[in-house]
Amino acid sequence: MGTDTADMSGVRPGFAPDPGVAELLAARPFLSADPVAGLLAEGVPLNAIADEAGTPAWVISAGTLRARARRLKAAMSAADLDVAAHYAVKANDHQAVLHILAAEGFGADVVSGGELARVRAAGIPAAKVIFSGVGKTDAEMDLALREGISQFNVESAEELDILSGRAVAAGCEARVALRINPDVDAGTHEKITTGVAGNKFGIPFEEALALYRRAHGLAGIRAVGFAMHIGSQILSPAPFRAAWARLAMLIREARAQGLAVEVADCGGGLGISYRDETEGSPEALAGALRRELGDCGVRLAIEPGRWIAAPAGILLSTVILRKAVAGGAPFIVLDAAMNDLARPSLYDAWHGLVPLAPHLLRSSVTEGAHLVGPVCETGDTFARDRRLPALARGDRVALLDAGAYGSVMSSTYNSRPLAVQVLVDGDRRAVIRPRQATEALWAEEYVPEWLSSRPE
Ligand SMILES: *Cc1c(COP(=O)(O)O)cnc(C)c1O
Repeated sequence: MGTDTADMSGVRPGFAPDPGVAELLAARPFLSADPVAGLLAEGVPLNAIADEAGTPAWVISAGTLRARARRLKAAMSAADLDVAAHYAVKANDHQAVLHILAAEGFGADVVSGGELARVRAAGIPAAKVIFSGVGKTDAEMDLALREGISQFNVESAEELDILSGRAVAAGCEARVALRINPDVDAGTHEKITTGVAGNKFGIPFEEALALYRRAHGLAGIRAVGFAMHIGSQILSPAPFRAAWARLAMLIREARAQGLAVEVADCGGGLGISYRDETEGSPEALAGALRRELGDCGVRLAIEPGRWIAAPAGILLSTVILRKAVAGGAPFIVLDAAMNDLARPSLYDAWHGLVPLAPHLLRSSVTEGAHLVGPVCETGDTFARDRRLPALARGDRVALLDAGAYGSVMSSTYNSRPLAVQVLVDGDRRAVIRPRQATEALWAEEYVPEWLSSRPE
């Protein structure tokens, strides 16, 4: 998905040209081009949101979250599978998002004490919470034990011993699944691959059974099964099948040794179409689950994040200025930046860009341009050599598929306040988090007294 090999025409050598506005909209049913109002999200004109709330602004579509949650569950039912869906909260942890998914029956997969407290505040019962992650602190373990969460996914022998100690001290029992590293390459970006030997995640496959046996004998631990999560933005069912085949093998071997296995947690990772990829299919995922684990007689769980939330969110931005480049494509400087949406600078991610104005949506004349933010880093680039209708100062654009790993990764780098967040739901819209006030950036900073007494 690297975007830096592009030539000036917006066509990467050996790659298909970037999809145009019409193609991008056709693949995103909650967005449409109204001839008068311009770009709509569900029934809401995005220009109205930008007028009211300013830009940069995150917009999240409740209808899209619900539709995707339902499609995922329907795919599992159609394959005759009873699968507990645990939304991976780190993808987008806003309370409104959690409320919507909780109402669809989703539980949560959390990776910190903060996320645990957050999902409890959103009303997700502890009995539907799984706690993942390579390093849970004592305080986080104690909190999760007090709350009585349904499952700890333990990632090392060391963590298992620590958890045993904390559970004994707290006088309770921790339900534990061992997260196994299946050593399967998910074929995704190296920074989001988690299931190959040599990265920090999970217990090596060869050590899994011995540790599971030990877990069965440990005080304060109830060993319930195994978990795997092999990476993110996975588009083909093949890596899932390879991993889950190993998971099934482990379950059979554990049982052959007389060790009970109740749960197989199959992780998240299903990918979406950012550019022109074929989106990961929940139906294919369900088929793979059924084929590899359907006859194991275990309770199945999945932990989708990106697939649910990414397509439901966009980031609205306004063109600050066009900077001409002699003999080359202009720089279009946006008021959104890498501190808002980090994925392009972090992962070379490609995000679709669609203008908001009706005349730009209609325009068939395009130019190649570089779209950048104002932050003082070369990496603050959203798109290079992108073909778009010619954008002028004051024009607005939507950066697509920003609903997952978007607002949650924002920072205030360059003292840029966190952007406003808006929810649309049918014809309704509401600010679900106001733009951070500039003064709030330093409101919690203290200057020690001996520095603040100025010489006369
Ligand atoms: C991040 C993560 C997920 C979700 O991954 P997506 O690619 O967003 O579906 C699920 N499980 C674990 C353990 C994770 O770390």
